[in-house]
Amino acid sequence: MRNALKQYNFDWMLWRTYEAGSRLLAGTKQEYDIALRYIPYFRDPVKEVFKAKAGQLFLQMTATYLDNIVHAHQRGKKTCMTTFCFSPAILYALDIVPVTLELLTVMMTFLYKRGTGEFLDYCNEAGFTETSCSSQRGSMGALLADIGTPIDMVVTDSPGVCDTNANAFSFFAAYKDLPFFQLNMPPWLVEERVTEYQVQDYKALVAFLEEQSGKKLDIDRLRQILTELQKQDELINELEQFLCYRPLPLPVTTCLFIYAGRFMFAGMPIYTRLLELLVNEGRENVRLHQQGIYTSHEKSRGFFCYIDHYTHSLRLWQMLQELNIGYSGNILSHFWADSNPPVIQNNWKEAAYSIKTNTLEDMLTSIAQINSRMPMIKSIRGPYDSPYMWLQDTLALASMYKADFIVYNGTPGCRNTWGMVKLLAQDTEKAGFPTHIMYADAFDDRVQSWDATRDRFEEFLRVRRLI
Ligand code: SF4
Repeated sequence: MRNALKQYNFDWMLWRTYEAGSRLLAGTKQEYDIALRYIPYFRDPVKEVFKAKAGQLFLQMTATYLDNIVHAHQRGKKTCMTTFCFSPAILYALDIVPVTLELLTVMMTFLYKRGTGEFLDYCNEAGFTETSCSSQRGSMGALLADIGTPIDMVVTDSPGVCDTNANAFSFFAAYKDLPFFQLNMPPWLVEERVTEYQVQDYKALVAFLEEQSGKKLDIDRLRQILTELQKQDELINELEQFLCYRPLPLPVTTCLFIYAGRFMFAGMPIYTRLLELLVNEGRENVRLHQQGIYTSHEKSRGFFCYIDHYTHSLRLWQMLQELNIGYSGNILSHFWADSNPPVIQNNWKEAAYSIKTNTLEDMLTSIAQINSRMPMIKSIRGPYDSPYMWLQDTLALASMYKADFIVYNGTPGCRNTWGMVKLLAQDTEKAGFPTHIMYADAFDDRVQSWDATRDRFEEFLRVRRLI
C-alpha cells in the first residue's frame, strides 16, 4: 500500500467528505453551483444523490454513521465489526457502534475514482485469499493496515450462506486476535426446531455482547428500538406500494436509500426520518399525478435479483435514468416483515418475522427472527429452488414490481450464488423474464470496467427489445 494512503485514517477521510457533502445545500443555489466547481472529484456522486429530495438527509445519515465510528472510543463506546446481513439493532440496544465492512467499502467506491483497489490488495498481502468477496476486503484492508478506528470485537452470521463473507470476518478476528462471534444459519428457514435454534444462538450472542461491552441489555431500550423498527416496516410497506406504479413516482435511488439506511440505522429515528421523507414525496407525487417525473418515459423496468453495482458516482443509477429504465427493488431491499406486501400477497406469514415487545423472551425471539430474514441470509441459505428461497423470492418480487427483465450482479467471490445462478436464470427465463447475468465485480472495476459492463447490459436490452 502506498505510504500516502497511510497518512490519514480512511474512515476519518470518509466522514469529513460525507459531512462536507451533506452541507452543500445549506447555502444558496449560487453558492452550491460555485462549490461544485471546487470539488471536481466528488461533484458527480453529490449531484447524483441530490437528484432525490431525500438525498441531503441520506448524506447526513451516512456522515452520522461515520461520525459514530470515528468518535466511538472518545465517547466511551466499543466498536463491533460486522456485516450487512446482520441487523445492527441489537448493537444499538447495547450501545455498541457497528462498523459494517460492506457499507464502508461502498461509501468509498461511490466517492473515490481509484476505488478500494489498494485496500483489497492489502488483504492479500496480509495472507487473505483474493478469491473472497470484495465487499469486505475493500475496507478490511484499511483496518488490517491500522488506518481506521480500532475494532473491539467481530460479529458475523453467515456460515453456510456465504462462506467467503464468513471467512473474511474470522480471518480478521484471528489476525488481530479479537473476540469473535458467529451466528449459525441452518439451510432451511421454516421449522420450529430452526426457530428455536436461532433464538438460542441469538441469546448466546447477546451474552457475548454483554460481556464484551461490559453493559447489560437494557430492556426498555430494546423495546424502543423494536417499536421504531415496526414503524420503519410500515413506512417501507407504503413505499413498496408506490414502487409498484409505472412509471415510478419516486427516484430510482429509492431502493438504494431503503436498504443502505436499514443496514446503517435499523431501529434508529434518523432512518425513520429518511423513510418519512420518501413516503411524503411518494404521496405528493401520486396525488399530483406526477408519476414519471424521474423516469419520464419508462421504457422497461428491471428487477435486480441480487446486489447492485457500486461503481464511482452511482453510475448504475445514472445509466438507468439515461436509458429510461425503471428500478423499484432488489433482494437487498426486502426484510420480510409479516406486514410486507409480498408476504401478504403470497400468504408467506410463516417465512416472515413478527415483532412482539411484551416480554424479553418475545423481543429476543423477534430480533432473532429479524436477523434470520436479512437479505442473503433468508434467500440464499438453502437450495435456490426450495420454498422461500432465491427463486421463489425473485419471481414474486419481479412480478410484484411489474418488472420486464431480471439482472444478476454480484462479485466473483459469490460462490453460493454463482453455483446456482445459471439454473436460476433458466427458471426465470421460463417464467417469462429475460435475464441478464453481469460478470462484473460490484465493488471492484478492475475485474470488468464499468464501460464494458454497461455495453453488455445495453446489448442485452437491445437484443431482448427492452429499449
Ligand atoms: S454473497 Fe457475494 S456479495 Fe454477498 S457477501 Fe457473499 S461474496 Fe459478498
